[in-house]
Amino acid sequence: MLNLLGLDLDALAAFCESLGEKRFRAVQLYRWIHQRGAADFAQMTDLAKAFREKLAGRAVVSGLPLLTEQASADGTIKWLFDVGGGNAVETVYIPEADRATLCVSSQAGCAVGCRFCSTGHQGFSRNLDAGEILAQLWFAEHRVRASRGLKPGERAIDNVVMMGMGEPLQNYAALVPALKTMLDDHAYGLSRRRVTVSTSGVVPMIDRLMQDCPVALAVSLHAPNNALRDQLVPLNRKYPLDELMQSCARYLAAAPRDFITFEYCMLDGVNDSPQQARELLDLVRGLGDESRTAVACKFNLIPFNPFPASGLRRSPRERVLAFGQVLNEGGIVTTIRKTRGDDIDAACGQLAGEVQDRTQVDQRMRRQPVTVHRRAAPPSFAAASTEVPRP
Ligand code: SAH
Ligand code: SF4
Repeated sequence: MLNLLGLDLDALAAFCESLGEKRFRAVQLYRWIHQRGAADFAQMTDLAKAFREKLAGRAVVSGLPLLTEQASADGTIKWLFDVGGGNAVETVYIPEADRATLCVSSQAGCAVGCRFCSTGHQGFSRNLDAGEILAQLWFAEHRVRASRGLKPGERAIDNVVMMGMGEPLQNYAALVPALKTMLDDHAYGLSRRRVTVSTSGVVPMIDRLMQDCPVALAVSLHAPNNALRDQLVPLNRKYPLDELMQSCARYLAAAPRDFITFEYCMLDGVNDSPQQARELLDLVRGLGDESRTAVACKFNLIPFNPFPASGLRRSPRERVLAFGQVLNEGGIVTTIRKTRGDDIDAACGQLAGEVQDRTQVDQRMRRQPVTVHRRAAPPSFAAASTEVPRP
């Protein structure tokens, strides 16, 4: 049975056409599913009975089975969904005073294997399909609307960030239809600036995203040079920093925002020295001419969220502030990400739904402990030295 949650409006229209129905019927159906949260065709009373019967014989609107729901003291909610075969993925709802953000997963596990990421430590099991990606928003939007008693037309979720489990640009074919439904006015109607794809730097797919579905882009940088980034984000060996920066510059030409967000996970004694911040300034200057740098990128510093197998530590607060100050003084808007939902392990990089690892990456990582040499006497920042052995 075809899961209609995975179809963008054009695909749904083509499917309806194959059943002898006009496009406007597909629009009605699409609105029932996404705007009303309907899963049962019988409920869709303004569609002809014959059409509903045809649909019922061929298609379903199938959400993901919910395994657990955990609510944090700060209002963050984490849902764990079963995606079959012993795998589960997580979705996190993050309310703020004036808006709410949903953090969506794209894969069960992740093949990139970043050192500091618990999803990366789990290895990779499989891609989610478009319906499984969109099902997270479909569920969360209607769940929160119901629990908050919102009226039809009132939105529960204002932003979507593809920052849950997985590397979205390594699941491109499923990602794009899901993004299109997020953006479609007949579905969730989110603006391109409020849907963010976060990537560890799959360069060719950044270029394709620009053409197929330009949304806000966040790039997980984590290091100012290739030597360190090769160790933290193994994908860097395939797509090194100069290529990544060039693709970011190209993306800016089409991006809905006039900046790219660089995410930078602050690891104690590894990537958090003021010298490394200065190196970053040099790196991102290439993004535009000197005068454009200030608007061409922003930095979001993420205090590392520890998990047992990482062997890494969070940078002390003053170190994060000092790092941010160097970037700020270099003309780059820099924010420090607030840690949300850490009492329910819902913070960045702590998402670790069940994954049947097909790659044994965790065992490989555990055999290579990270060695961090702390400087003897802070604040002699320049003396920080780090050694992260190569796999
Ligand atoms: N695969 C994509 C999106 C998912 S990760 C990417 O890497 O961009 C979302 C963000 O959380 C990334 O910036 C990632 O580097 C960061 N992150 C991963 N593990 C983390 C941890 N343990 N602490 C803090 N941030 C982490
Ligand atoms: Fe994958 Fe992103 Fe985690 Fe790296 S940080 S392992 S790319 S999910």
